[in-house]
Amino acid sequence: LTYYHAKGVLKKISPDTPLDAWYFRVRDMATPYEINVDPDQANQNNLTFFINYKVYDYQDNFIGVAGVGLKVDTVIKLLDRYQQRYQRSVYFVDTQGRIVLTGAEGGPQGARAGQSLLELENLHDLRAKLPTPHSGNYEYNAQGQRHFLNVRFIPELNWYLFVDKHEGSALGDIRRSLYLNLLICLVITLIVLALLNGVIRRFQRKIETQATLDSLTGLPNRRGFDLLALQAMHEAQREPKPLTALLLDLDHFKRLNDTHGHLAGDQVLSGFARHLESCLRQSDIVCRWGGEEFIVLLKDTDSATALKIAEKIRLLIEQQRYAYEGKNLHLTVSIGVTTLQADDTLHSLLSRADHAMYRAKQSGRNRTCVEMPHSSYE
Ligand code: GH3
Ligand code: MG
Ligand code: MG
Repeated sequence: LTYYHAKGVLKKISPDTPLDAWYFRVRDMATPYEINVDPDQANQNNLTFFINYKVYDYQDNFIGVAGVGLKVDTVIKLLDRYQQRYQRSVYFVDTQGRIVLTGAEGGPQGARAGQSLLELENLHDLRAKLPTPHSGNYEYNAQGQRHFLNVRFIPELNWYLFVDKHEGSALGDIRRSLYLNLLICLVITLIVLALLNGVIRRFQRKIETQATLDSLTGLPNRRGFDLLALQAMHEAQREPKPLTALLLDLDHFKRLNDTHGHLAGDQVLSGFARHLESCLRQSDIVCRWGGEEFIVLLKDTDSATALKIAEKIRLLIEQQRYAYEGKNLHLTVSIGVTTLQADDTLHSLLSRADHAMYRAKQSGRNRTCVEMPHSSYE
């Protein structure tokens, strides 16, 4: 029952003195130590955190209590340091919601120890969410600012530790730069999408064009021709204006391939396409129908004029020489001619032209035959 401290014996302990109650409490408790907050009798009764340990001798007999104290002033300095360094408000609250310990500047809105959180007008929003202290994370508004609050129960003290961070300028800046970044991302995304859209459209147009063009001669293929031909026939039948079809088939082309090779054949085919185009107007429709067969639709042209044009083509080809690997290749073409009738379909028109071309082949090739709907002449 003797109270020792660093400088010697302080006093005798008595069960009748309320200030000495802590000793008897520690002596009788089941746990080996306790932490509490008490006035320090050896230090002008300054409020102090104590850690009190029960002490036993080697025979396990209780012989006293050893206590270590940390002055609350020191703790307040610690709180101040943390508040400044981390820009947070740090304070302790008891289980009734009363502030028990703050930094030198006070608790929330300068509240002093002893005040209840419930009394603070500005914490209206917090009170609604936290009527009595509980561990956890909370958000609330006070004085037009958002606060992030972390509450943790400290069982040794039976207090709650409140750490409060308000959305000050630092967080506001971060938020602004976040929005700015999101905006920049959005703009970049839109630009990329627009570019992508343009590229895809251009690519699609290219594919569409390629799908309707023959790669060797660059003339429209059968697919491209169908679209153009139907439109031209429709116009001619509506106006009405004459429209004449030429079907051209190169003579003995297989022989040319066999003699000079397929590559020579290819070169002659594309040369032929150029010569054919040179005899036609911009408005005429020309197509590589397949293999070594070509079709021409002459707009606003009757069969007599068409015959002249066909002959012009035939003569030009006959006189032409195609240079290939030092050789001059020679070519002729057979042409069938027919004029569109009111009841014609594309199919009926082309089969008449085919018939005329067949007759041109039959009668010796390198010539033009005209097929009338019900009669024919050469
Ligand atoms: P005809 O006077 O009766 O028309 O005789 P032809 O040999 O021209 O007719 P045929 O239909 O027997 O042969 C056509 C040839 O055209 C066969 C084929 O090898 C050739 N040919 C078709 N397409 C191409 C091509 O793209 N390139 C080359 N080099 N030859 C082709
Ligand atoms: Mg053929
Ligand atoms: Mg042929």
